[in-house]
Amino acid sequence: MPVDVLSAQDHISLAERWGAHDSVPFPVVLSEGEGAWMTDVEGRRYLDFHGGYSASNFGHGHPELVAAAKAQLDRMTLSTRAFHHDQYGPFCRELAELTGTETVLLSNSGGEAVDTAVKIARKWAYQVKGVPDGAAEIIVAGANFHGRTTTIVSFSTQASHRAGFGPFTPGFKVVPFGDIDALRSAITGNTAAVLLEPIQGEAGVIVPPKGYLGEVRELCDESNTLFVADEVQCGMARAGSTLALDHEGVRADMYTLGKSLSGGLLPVSAVVGRADVLGVITPGDHGSTFGGNPLACAVGRAAVRLLATGEFQARSRELGAHLHARLAELDGVTEVRGRGLWAGVQLAQERVAGRRVTEELAERGLLCKEAKGHLRVAPPLVVTREEIDLGVDIIADVLG
Ligand SMILES: *Cc1c(COP(=O)(O)O)cnc(C)c1O
Repeated sequence: MPVDVLSAQDHISLAERWGAHDSVPFPVVLSEGEGAWMTDVEGRRYLDFHGGYSASNFGHGHPELVAAAKAQLDRMTLSTRAFHHDQYGPFCRELAELTGTETVLLSNSGGEAVDTAVKIARKWAYQVKGVPDGAAEIIVAGANFHGRTTTIVSFSTQASHRAGFGPFTPGFKVVPFGDIDALRSAITGNTAAVLLEPIQGEAGVIVPPKGYLGEVRELCDESNTLFVADEVQCGMARAGSTLALDHEGVRADMYTLGKSLSGGLLPVSAVVGRADVLGVITPGDHGSTFGGNPLACAVGRAAVRLLATGEFQARSRELGAHLHARLAELDGVTEVRGRGLWAGVQLAQERVAGRRVTEELAERGLLCKEAKGHLRVAPPLVVTREEIDLGVDIIADVLG
């Protein structure tokens, strides 16, 4: 049967019968997206407050990103790193300039970038810091989310991410997020790096106490430890600045980027940072067939061009202030966290209990994801003030 004559229920049945059960998607079958809107197979339109977990910061089908992808599809999509290609050098330079960094290592998924940063930090610890072989430690925060590889789930504090997947990779220590004293106590002569999300996304858009990230920087400087900022979700203008750390005036030694690095068109990720730190990687150490491919680089270059104007960062700040003010007024909301056009909306217990808030929102035309008693609101940054009001009115209706 041609795909386009299948009903929504047919699609859901096929997914459940033939797809692995790695997720429980809402019973909405999407087929098109434009800007801040998505359309399902039955022609129903939804306002997108989910934003592809912040992979869709520029909106669905941004014309400049799509044009860059189409043009590159017609030219060449893969050379592998065995050969140079004409999109790689320019993308590395433009991404380094955008982020104020010196060296770029390209990969595909966010998890892959984090895994790569872990490898670089360990090799740096042995070669530069002089940590005894095999003893390097990396300190991470409780409630972190850095991806799903076996090494990354080794330092997750969420039981469901770990259960059944051991044995785990050693060499990680977990301290509470935002607790500078705990971090100070955890650092030893064998500490290679501190790896943090400057704002924790999956944990519910948790902003650390004022000054914390600057203190992390100081501790790292005092102890010759690398500060690795995972900006896969909070970066790329989501939090109102190109990198979320920019807001604090703090620099990391390495950043991991992903999600909106391609504007949601295809998987593109990177480790960016100090030349001397990434410099520990030498030919043969590391590699990826698709990492830094011409299509990824061409689309990434278009995303960097969009960010270079500062327009999206400004939209995130201005519209974010409006979003936060509106959400904070709602009945049934106990706390609104976050920065920029990004909010963790804590719901009062009685409003959550016994109802699937997100399903009701979808029924009324708003796509948004709920987790552990909060809603994460992350519309594409092209959303308008009127659309924000529309979405918040739907949330108010459902909570009311
Ligand atoms: C989503 C995310 C990742 C993992 O990215 P994938 O592309 O899903 O592998 C890593 N770190 C953070 C902070 C994320 O939000």
